[in-house]
Amino acid sequence: MTNAIPTIRILPELLINQIAAGEVVERPAAALKELLENSLDAGSSRIDIDLAQGGIKRIRVADDGRGIAAEELPLAVARHATSKIRVLEDLERVASLGFRGEALASLSAISRLSISSRAEGAAHASRFEVVGGEASAVEAAALERGTVVSAEDLFFNTPARRKFLKTEATEFGHCEDVAQRLALAVPDVAVSLTHNGRRLWQLHPGEPKARVAAILGEEFSAASAEIDERAATFSIVGWVGLPRYSRAGRDQQYLFVNGRFVRDKLLVHAIREAYSDVLHGGRHPAYALFLNLDPAMVDVNVHPTKAEVRFRDSRAAHQFVFHALDKALSVSAANTAPAVANPLDWITSRSGQSQQRGHGGQGAQTSNMQSVQTWQRASQPSFTQLNAREPNAFYEVMRGETTAPFSDANDGTNTVISESWRSELNSQDHQAFPPLGFALAQLHGIYILAQNANGLVLVDMHAAHERIVYEKLKTALDLNQLASQPLIAPIAMALGERDMALVTDHREFFEQLGFDLAAISPTEIAIRAGPAMLPTLDANAMLRELLDDLAEHGASRALTEKRDEILGTMACHGAVRANRQLAIPEMNALLRDMEATERSGQCNHGRPTWYQFALHDLDKLFMRGR
Ligand code: ADP
Ligand code: MG
Repeated sequence: MTNAIPTIRILPELLINQIAAGEVVERPAAALKELLENSLDAGSSRIDIDLAQGGIKRIRVADDGRGIAAEELPLAVARHATSKIRVLEDLERVASLGFRGEALASLSAISRLSISSRAEGAAHASRFEVVGGEASAVEAAALERGTVVSAEDLFFNTPARRKFLKTEATEFGHCEDVAQRLALAVPDVAVSLTHNGRRLWQLHPGEPKARVAAILGEEFSAASAEIDERAATFSIVGWVGLPRYSRAGRDQQYLFVNGRFVRDKLLVHAIREAYSDVLHGGRHPAYALFLNLDPAMVDVNVHPTKAEVRFRDSRAAHQFVFHALDKALSVSAANTAPAVANPLDWITSRSGQSQQRGHGGQGAQTSNMQSVQTWQRASQPSFTQLNAREPNAFYEVMRGETTAPFSDANDGTNTVISESWRSELNSQDHQAFPPLGFALAQLHGIYILAQNANGLVLVDMHAAHERIVYEKLKTALDLNQLASQPLIAPIAMALGERDMALVTDHREFFEQLGFDLAAISPTEIAIRAGPAMLPTLDANAMLRELLDDLAEHGASRALTEKRDEILGTMACHGAVRANRQLAIPEMNALLRDMEATERSGQCNHGRPTWYQFALHDLDKLFMRGR
C-alpha cells in the first residue's frame, strides 16, 4: 500500500468560514441580503446601501439601528455568535430575520470587512476590521448613531469562488432585486440605493400601497386588486395584478412569509391556481403578497439563506392563499373597471405597442354591485336567449312574451335608439344607470358602445360573451344542470375512425356536456341535441374540438383536470361572433349579463372585455372646459 490513509483533522476557523461563505454569501446579492437583515433586526428606520462594481468591489450598508457595543464587536464576527436566539425553544418562534450567527463570520473570511457602530447610549462609536480572518484591535471612531458595515473585495482570497461571479451588471441586478424586496417588506423604513457613486433611488417611509407603487410601478398599482383576508391562523394582505396587467416573466412576483421574502413552491402553486382561470397560459401574474402566521407554525430554518420555508400545515396554507386570491380575482364587471384616465394617452399607447397598459382611476367602482340586482329584472331575457333568434340557430327557442317586443328589432335599425331607451339615457338621475350603462350602438360588428353614469363604456362583445357563457357552463356543470335541448332537425356529421370510437366509448362524457349523439353509420353520427345554454352553437366545429380535447386528455382527465379547458372550448364556439348585428335590447341584455357574471372584466384568456372612458377625460381630450 503506497496510499497513506489521510489523518482526520479539525479544520482551521478561517477555512470553516470560507466553506460556510459558499452557502451563505455565495454572491454579492446574498451578502447584501444578510447585511440588510441585520440592519432590520437592529430596529433601523433608515438604511442606505452603497455598492461599487456590482457589489464585488464594495458593499456598504449604513443604518440607524441599535448598534453594537464596542466590547461585542469581535463577537459579532465570530462564528455561531448571535444576539437573536439563546436556547432551542427560541428557534421555534424566531421573529428576527437572522439567527444563525454565520453571516458576518462568513463575510469576514472572504472579504475585507469593517464594522463601525455606536451602541445606543454609548459615549462614542467604535470600529473593527477583519481582513482574511485577521482581526484588528477595536478603535474609537466617529459615527453619530447606528452601524456601518462595509465588505470590500469579495472573494479576494478565494479566487476559485471569485470566478463564479458574473458580470458587474448581472451582480448589480441581483443586488438591486434584494434591495427592492427588502424595501417592499418594510414600507416604514427609508431605503436608498447608490451604485458606483450614483444615487439610483431613495424611498421615503410611507404607506404600504405607496411602497408597492414605487417598486412595482404606478401601472401595477392602478391595475391591481387589494387583498386583506384574516383568519384565525393566517392573514394575507397585499396587492395582486389584475389579469390585464399580466407579464411575460416572473419579475414582479413578491411573496413574503412573516416579513421574509420567500420562493415557496407550495404558495406559488396556490397563486398560479387562483390565476389559472383568468390568465392565459403563457403570461405571468404580478403581485406583492404578505402572508403572516404564528412563527411556531412555520419553519424558516430549512435553508441556509432562508429562501424556503416549511409550513406545519401546508394544505391549510395553500387553501388559504388560493381562496384569498380567487376571491379578489373573481369580482365581477362592476368592480373591475379598467378605467382609462387619459384617453389620448391610451389611444397613442395602444397604436404603437401591443403591451397592455392599465391606467389609474376606478371609474365604475362608484356604481357598485348593489345596483346590479335592480337591473336584473326578472322579466328581462338574458343575452343568450335573445341571441338565439339568429337565423341559423339550431334550437327552437321558447319565445316568452318578454322577448316578443324585441323580436323585430334586429332589422338593421339597431343604431337608432328607441324612444323609451332614449328617455332613460337622458335621465339626469345618474342612479338610474346600471354599472355598465345602456347600449348606444355597435361599432364595426365588434364593439358595443354604451353610456353609463361615468361616461362611455366600450365592450368587446365576443370576449365578454365568451366569459359569460364560460362561467354559466361551469356553474351548470357543477350543479349537474347542464341541460340538453333537442335540435329542430338532427345534424349529420362524418367522423374518422378515432372519433367514431371516442363517441361510442364516451357517451357519458358528451351527455354530461348536454350532447345527444347517435351513430347512424360506421362513419357518421347524428347530433340530436346540444347544450341548451348555447343556442348559437356551431355544433360541428365545437364537437370536433371536443373530440380533439378528449383524445388528448383521455375521458377521465377531460372532465376533471381539463374541465375548464373543455368548457372554454365550448364557450368560444358558443359565444356570439364578430360581425353579428345586435339589436339594442340584445346589447343591453349582454351588459346586464356581464354585471351579474363573476370575472367578466376579462375574457377566458385574460384580455380585458371592456373599458371605461370617463366623461371628464373625454372633455380633456377635446380640451373642453366645463
Ligand atoms: P445573525 O444575524 O444570525 O445573528 P450575523 O453574523 O449576521 O448573525 O450577526 C451577528 C450579530 O452581530 C447579530 O446577532 C447582532 O447582534 C450583531 N449585528 C450585526 N449587524 C448588526 C447591525 N447592523 N446592527 C446591530 N447589530 C448587528
Ligand atoms: Mg444576520
